[in-house]
Amino acid sequence: MNARARYSVVVPMFNEEEVIDQTYAVLTAVMERTGEPYELIFVNDGSRDATEAKAAAICKEDARGKLVNFSRNFGHQIAITAGMDYAEGDAVIIIDADLQDPPELLPQFLEKYREGYDVVYGIRKNRKEPLWLRFCFGAFYRIFNLIADRPIPLDVGDFSLVSQRVATLIASMPEHDRLIRGMRSWVGFRQIGIPYDRPERHAGQTSY
Ligand code: UDP
Ligand code: MG
Repeated sequence: MNARARYSVVVPMFNEEEVIDQTYAVLTAVMERTGEPYELIFVNDGSRDATEAKAAAICKEDARGKLVNFSRNFGHQIAITAGMDYAEGDAVIIIDADLQDPPELLPQFLEKYREGYDVVYGIRKNRKEPLWLRFCFGAFYRIFNLIADRPIPLDVGDFSLVSQRVATLIASMPEHDRLIRGMRSWVGFRQIGIPYDRPERHAGQTSY
C-alpha cells in the first residue's frame, strides 16, 4: 500500500496546437480532483506548429508545468522515453495529447497504483480504426507474441501509469528501436490492465 504520492504526467506532442489547451484543461481538472501533487511534463517532439509556444505559455502560468523541447522530430517512443527520464514523481503517467487516452481513467490508474501495482495500462475495448488496419495490428501482435519471450497483451498502447522504478528501468534500457508497451511488459513486476472505450482524435491528425 503506497501512502500519498507525487505523480508525473508525461504528454508527448507532435503538432498538437489544436488540442493542447483543451488537453491541459481536462488533465488539470482530473488531477486536481485526485487531490494529489503532480507535475505535468510536455515533451514537444519537434512540432512545426504553435505547440511549443502554447506549451511554454501554459508552463509560464502553471508552476506544475514543465517543457522538454526536442531539436527535431524524434518520434513518439523517444518522446515518451525522455519524459520518463525527466519525471520525478513516485509514479509516471503516459498519456497522448489528443485526448484519445481518456484522462477520466486516471483515478482508476491511481487506485491500482495505491493497491501496489507497478504498471497499470489501458486496454482498448472498441477500436475505431478501419478493418484492414485492425487486421494488420492484430496480425503484428499475434506474430510478435509467437516469437517474444514476454508477450505484449493484445489491444494495449502506451497509455499507462508506471512506478518510478519501472520508468527508470525503461528509460535506462539501451534499445535503439523502442516499443515502450513491449519493454513495459518485459520488465515484470505486478501489472494490471483496465479496459476502456477509445474515442476518436479530438482534433488534428494522426501521424502514424
Ligand atoms: N507524437 C509524438 N511524436 C511523433 C508522433 C506523435 O510525440 O512523431 C505524439 C502525438 O502528439 C500524440 C501521440 O504521440 O500525443 C500519439 O500520436 P497519434 O495521435 O498521431 O497516434 P495514434 O493515436 O493515431 O496512434
Ligand atoms: Mg492519437
